[in-house]
Amino acid sequence: MKVMERAGIPIIGVKPGSIADRMRIRPGDCLMTVNGIVPRDLLEYHYLTTAGKVWLKVRHQDGKIESIWIQKDDDTDLGLVFKTDCFDGIIHCRNKCIFCFIDQLPPDLRMSLYEKDDDYRLSFLHGNFITLTNITSSDMRRILTFHLSPLYLSVHTTKPALRGKMLGRREPMPVLEKIAELAGGGITMHIQIVLCPGWNDGDVLIRTIQDLSRFWPQVASIGIVPVGLTKFREGLPFLRNFTKAECRSLIRKISRKQKAFRLRYKSSFVYLADEFYLRGEWPLPPRSVYDGFPQLENGIGFGRLFYDEFRKMLPLLPERLVSPRSFVIGTGAAGARVLEPVIARLNLIKNVRLKLISIPNIFFGPRISVTGLLTGRDLLWGLRGVKGEDVLLPNVLLRQGTSLLLDGMTLDQVSSRSGCRIHVIEPTASALVEAVLGRRGRSKPIRR
Ligand code: SF4
Repeated sequence: MKVMERAGIPIIGVKPGSIADRMRIRPGDCLMTVNGIVPRDLLEYHYLTTAGKVWLKVRHQDGKIESIWIQKDDDTDLGLVFKTDCFDGIIHCRNKCIFCFIDQLPPDLRMSLYEKDDDYRLSFLHGNFITLTNITSSDMRRILTFHLSPLYLSVHTTKPALRGKMLGRREPMPVLEKIAELAGGGITMHIQIVLCPGWNDGDVLIRTIQDLSRFWPQVASIGIVPVGLTKFREGLPFLRNFTKAECRSLIRKISRKQKAFRLRYKSSFVYLADEFYLRGEWPLPPRSVYDGFPQLENGIGFGRLFYDEFRKMLPLLPERLVSPRSFVIGTGAAGARVLEPVIARLNLIKNVRLKLISIPNIFFGPRISVTGLLTGRDLLWGLRGVKGEDVLLPNVLLRQGTSLLLDGMTLDQVSSRSGCRIHVIEPTASALVEAVLGRRGRSKPIRR
């Protein structure tokens, strides 16, 4: 905090035409105080700047400090953009979860990938899951005062001793008291359970769901995702993937629970990640089971949305195209299972030739099947037999807003080394159909 008080909060952008723009605040300037207070984070900044009268102290790039008095309508945004949301630094996690993906990364990736945050502000602002184990009582008060709702919580189990063990802590880690406090303050919560066979599945899972269901509707959804295991687990506790039979048994149990919750709450309340259905070779549930997809960001219901969108487009598909169009569709193993029937249907259109390639994850190991974790090296390996082809890839592979892949390679490099023309598309059925049929050209070719 001391450093920030002296240096100020770096401003990296000013919205054109905004109040800040008109006051000649520029990117590179630093915000020192608002109404005499150094805001700790974006939340406090918004809180302090919502009123009609605002007093800013800004340090300009030439070192001059200016006091700026602003009179505006209540709630009008000043137009400042900051480098970070947490001006006083991100709250880092002190856990060492047995399944932590960051602990399973190889060395030599970009530094930001190793950052373990457990910050309630990022949970509210960006939907990051937090454990509530790195939170102080003053943070809890802040959540309730600012009414930071909804929050996204990683629970895994409600048994304190087991939770402590799974989070890699020496002591038990109870969570229900904190959930009760948040629920009492009117905070809505979405829960994540990372399911690990032999740890928190079976009866433990059922008890966890029961315990959490007591807080409905404040606890609005529970998303269950399978543990993700890379090949870099040396020195970490033994964990394995769920088998096909285990996935099927879990699907049966959870669908019984969903039925019971729908009768009681008119909501399925608990949802399984698509991966369980794909591994269990079980049909994805209908849209009605997902209640508006509250855990879509967590990979829950993505396949159902994709199929439903494609089904709506079926009557619009032509029988033939005037000129031939040919694409290779690259995806991870899980995505390939979703795409298979869609690609088969599109291949029935005369003059359309699509080849679906399921790209194995060599970088992180064969147990990782999601498309978003494919790296540049995996793409080069997967595309080695299709030189000269047009390749469609979903943008989930890329770091947001860049053409950078997880291992630091760029799509340009993959394109030039593989000899393919790579087009990046949104991971939706309409984007795929439009790219294949050549309508509106939403796909972006990568220059070589
Ligand atoms: S809470 Fe657990 S999974 Fe999340 S970053 Fe920390 S150690 Fe990793």
